[in-house]
Amino acid sequence: MCSQWNKIKVCLVPLALMLLLPGGCAKRAAENPFAYPFIKTIHVPRQPGKPYSDYKALYLLTEDFEPVIKSPEDLRQIDDALGLASSLASQYKVPWTHFVDVNVLAPAFIGDDTQLKQGTQEIISRLACMTADGDDCQLHLHGSMDRRLLDYMRSQDKLHPKVSEIDDAEPYRLRRSFFFNSFYREGFRDLVTGLTYGKLLLEKTVYDGKAPVLAFRPGGWDHGSSRSNAYIYFSALGASGLAANSGLATGEFGGDTFQVGGAPGNNVAAVHVGDRSIVEVSPTSGPGGYVNPVLPCDLEKLASSRKGELAIIVSVYHLSALQKSGMESAEGSDLNPQSFDAEVGKARQALDHHFQQVADLRARKVLYPVTMREALSIISEQNLINSIAYQNTQSR
Ligand SMILES: [Zn+2]
Repeated sequence: MCSQWNKIKVCLVPLALMLLLPGGCAKRAAENPFAYPFIKTIHVPRQPGKPYSDYKALYLLTEDFEPVIKSPEDLRQIDDALGLASSLASQYKVPWTHFVDVNVLAPAFIGDDTQLKQGTQEIISRLACMTADGDDCQLHLHGSMDRRLLDYMRSQDKLHPKVSEIDDAEPYRLRRSFFFNSFYREGFRDLVTGLTYGKLLLEKTVYDGKAPVLAFRPGGWDHGSSRSNAYIYFSALGASGLAANSGLATGEFGGDTFQVGGAPGNNVAAVHVGDRSIVEVSPTSGPGGYVNPVLPCDLEKLASSRKGELAIIVSVYHLSALQKSGMESAEGSDLNPQSFDAEVGKARQALDHHFQQVADLRARKVLYPVTMREALSIISEQNLINSIAYQNTQSR
């Protein structure tokens, strides 16, 4: 009788605790897109006989190119920032991958201000030159494509994206940015249209029609709040002819669990939507959200964290951080010219230090710097997409 009661007590106590502490017990695990059934993590083996075979990790230095272009002063600051980016890349032979928000380039095509028009065209030419010298440009958006820019694009090229409307409504866990502003406000057709024409704009202006834009990074790391949102998001990428994405986010935006991308070995995946496969090459999570070239980070330790596997480290910067308006929005206050110069000096120093560090780690065969385009080619040449089912069975 006594032992029977003890058994009952053993069962009842946790039950009572669950009822008394609904908050504690009911706390859900952070939503992790890498665990969605259509997203399968890829582990990249270090194959022999390749130029990168002896290195521990590929290193992708990315930046989201989203400067403010409203005045000649803005243009000067962006020009300086691109000049710095370009000289660091050529001095240290470490390329950038620029995720370009095409909406910021609108003054080059629409609007009446000739100075802004010419200045923005020069920015595009500069991006084209940097790309010709080894950098990479891929697509970035924070919402729908600028209406007037879209009309301009349509007047030049008529594309007919094949889309069927999908409806979805769920509570929102991420920052309301790209997916929310586009899909929830305007619908699936808008999502695909913005991606399709944004891709075309970069291909025509930066690549002169000679290379495809392959990858997208969602503004605000907003690829939709839920599993079904993410499926719609990747379907739109596929329908727009994009082959890759860079930026899945786990957890609730603003919460403790929020994280961009994943640790090395957990930041690359194949995403299957319908009959398409899209490659995810997410930023490497780090202090403050993701690995940032101007923040301290032990890249050697990150590169060595996966034994027998080629780690892929993706860092994220914003060249608009070297713009006065970019700094003011980060600091939340106005900057006088002296403080601005001091901040630019600090950022330049931090970037220079980072490039030195990467060059040193390359010399020691730790990091093999590549662009997104090169990383995608390395992933695809290993035929990993076909071996994903096998990888998943192994890891369970
Ligand atoms: Zn952005």
